[in-house]
Amino acid sequence: MPISSTSPKLVILDRDGTINEDSDHFVKSPDEWIPLPGALQAIARLSQMGWQVVVATNQSGLGRGLFDIVALNAMHEKMKQLLAVEGGRIEAVFFCPHVASDMCHCRKPLPGLFEQIGERFRADLRDVPAVGDSLRDLQAAAAAGAQPHLVRTGKGQQTALRDDLPSGTVIHEDLSHFVDYWLQQQAQLNDGTDLPEEKLGQDALAASRDQRGV
Ligand SMILES: [Mg+2]
Ligand SMILES: [Zn+2]
Repeated sequence: MPISSTSPKLVILDRDGTINEDSDHFVKSPDEWIPLPGALQAIARLSQMGWQVVVATNQSGLGRGLFDIVALNAMHEKMKQLLAVEGGRIEAVFFCPHVASDMCHCRKPLPGLFEQIGERFRADLRDVPAVGDSLRDLQAAAAAGAQPHLVRTGKGQQTALRDDLPSGTVIHEDLSHFVDYWLQQQAQLNDGTDLPEEKLGQDALAASRDQRGV
């Protein structure tokens, strides 16, 4: 359990289809890792506003032998270097290397990666947004108690059509639009300094929850 009751400034992102172009044939090398338009700049805006950005990603290509850990690290090195140019930072990448038949607890839609993140950052995930393009991203987020956010990039256009999205899922055009939304929500939370801090937080949170919904 978290030691501190203050919610962390933490954002959890899916990788393929959310930050970079997805591929039905798997993203297997740094050359195949291509950022989506505006995605790195969006992460940089979070970094510059003091948000810690963490990636949670299924990488069953490892379990299938399509690429190895050296290639995965090289992809993430490319991601971090391109991001650094924009002034952004990713604190950590949590990945599941398994295939479905491994029956692990970390492969989304199960919440294992999110639980690892919660432990590492000593964070209650209740007010932590988790952004992804697939139903399983949203399901994993909801199972871990985080806030599900869907982007229409990658598989997101298809996912948005589903009628079984977790309740409270917020839909955004892309990562950049999510960041617009999120930073605006935070600005509203921090507005209204005449209320006691604790009460303000609760009221504003309730208000922001009311605005959510599919
Ligand atoms: Mg994805
Ligand atoms: Zn796993």
